[in-house]
Amino acid sequence: MQSYTLGIDIGGTKIALGALSNAFHLLARREFPYDPARTAEDTFARLAAQIRDCLSDAGAEAAAVTHVGVGLPGVLSPDRRSLKFAPNAALFNAFPLYDALQSLFPGAALRMENDANAACLAESRLGAGQGFRNMLYATISTGIGCGLILDGKLYRGSRFSAGEIGHMRIYPGGEACGCGGQGCAEAYAGGANYPRRIRRRIDAGEETAMTALAAKHGGAIDGRVLSAALSAGDPMAREVFGEICAALGLLFYNINKLLDLDAFVLGGGLTNLGEPLFDGVRREYAALCTPMDDPAGGRFLPAHFSSAEIGIFGAAMAAHPA
Ligand SMILES: [Zn+2]
Repeated sequence: MQSYTLGIDIGGTKIALGALSNAFHLLARREFPYDPARTAEDTFARLAAQIRDCLSDAGAEAAAVTHVGVGLPGVLSPDRRSLKFAPNAALFNAFPLYDALQSLFPGAALRMENDANAACLAESRLGAGQGFRNMLYATISTGIGCGLILDGKLYRGSRFSAGEIGHMRIYPGGEACGCGGQGCAEAYAGGANYPRRIRRRIDAGEETAMTALAAKHGGAIDGRVLSAALSAGDPMAREVFGEICAALGLLFYNINKLLDLDAFVLGGGLTNLGEPLFDGVRREYAALCTPMDDPAGGRFLPAHFSSAEIGIFGAAMAAHPA
């Protein structure tokens, strides 16, 4: 009998799920937004209905689901059955999600994983990180987080909070960060922060093509606006882009001093800037290297999975520990 894996990716405002064969072919997927103000019971009931529909689209019986993986945006408890800290998915903090899912699939192996770790597993086993014994997968979006594969295994840290690289302090006394610290990498390269830096300069009277470009996109400065302004040769866009690349180059250089990795796989919204971003990060990384450093150390690769799929594949991979 064919058997299946269910991957469930719980985000801050939406849940994506997919039914996969146990050879990791995605057979069907669903996605639905949820209102964090509604009750967890309500949201779980919707999730259960979506799971049933998704399995039916895939032609799979619930009894044939042998593995269920869940990706969660937060720090998991040591038994990986609940969330200890999830600023972006507080809804499930007090809800027994593990038990509720287990009761839907009593015969299946059920595993929960931090979403960045889950994504790292997917890139490591099926994506751009295949074949590397030591690798890092970073997601560079609103925030910056990462998963780590060391000696072929996922590294979670002593308190399950390894990989919070967005809050590594790269410029002491620098820009304030949402975490309460100063000079964090995320304060320069995070999607919630570089637009604020641009806005501040505009408010101070500086000219930039981004003012008009943002107006076309409903007023918000985002990656599309930055990208369009870069193509138009806008000086402020170039400067801010330079700051982003410099922050990431420095961050990854310092990480590699500690870990000596085979590869950095980069995903998340900012990587939609494409090759110019990768070139910029490589250049900044290389500029920091000394004769001590192996030039092969800074290998930066784009993630294989799209941001729409990485959560589902990550959750599915988390259900199958190596
Ligand atoms: Zn921070």
